[in-house]
Amino acid sequence: MLVGRDWKDINMIPWLSSCKEFFFPSFCLGCGCQLANGKLPLFCQDCLRSVDYIFSPLCSCCGKPFLQGDDHLCGQCLKKTFYFDSARSLAVYKKPVSTLIHDLKFSGSLNGLGSIKSLVAGSFFCSSMKEPDYIFPIPLHAKRLKARGFNQAVMLAHCFFPFWKERIKSGLLIRHGDTAPQALLSKQERRQNVVGVFRLTQPEFIRGKRIILIDDVYTTGSTVNQCARVLRQAGASSIEVFTLARAV
Ligand SMILES: [Zn+2]
Ligand SMILES: [Zn+2]
Repeated sequence: MLVGRDWKDINMIPWLSSCKEFFFPSFCLGCGCQLANGKLPLFCQDCLRSVDYIFSPLCSCCGKPFLQGDDHLCGQCLKKTFYFDSARSLAVYKKPVSTLIHDLKFSGSLNGLGSIKSLVAGSFFCSSMKEPDYIFPIPLHAKRLKARGFNQAVMLAHCFFPFWKERIKSGLLIRHGDTAPQALLSKQERRQNVVGVFRLTQPEFIRGKRIILIDDVYTTGSTVNQCARVLRQAGASSIEVFTLARAV
């Protein structure tokens, strides 16, 4: 009997788990093939092997991966163009991770969140972090938030840092300008597109604080950099950026 048990405990009872898989089979979130069981992450072996995790050597500031050598600053970071201290991403933006992000952002599907949480938990990503004062998901404009029903960066913040839920704040950093989607723009246009669109509702809370910023994909860094600029102006002592994926 399941009396007093969580419904998730069904996976602990082999014959019930088999029945569940028979009536409600699990499918790979990357390629759609049927899986033998519903174990997270919901990827087949081929898709799981295709997850391209980002490790050293990389740029010690923006996290750009290098093919060889030690960690060092890339050409762009040598010019000190960023307001954040460091940016790190779990994996390269390609299938199957890009499929997870696409489903989350454009299909409004939350089915992949358990798998994202499982991928993050199974890596060293985020594990070396010291507890921050605040975790800010990159905000959506109210119009887009209403259309999508949720902010994917908030969902990702909970996947990355389930143990620091109370540090995740959605109302302090806001987006007051409705901008064109960054994915449709050139590098130069991306930079211009997000200038001046972020602001703090209570900037007095930021002075001396350690901040983590969360977004889905790091492409040129323009969006997170504009958020970091606002936080730096308000006196943040450190700003670290974490994204699920990074375009390379
Ligand atoms: Zn697959
Ligand atoms: Zn760099």
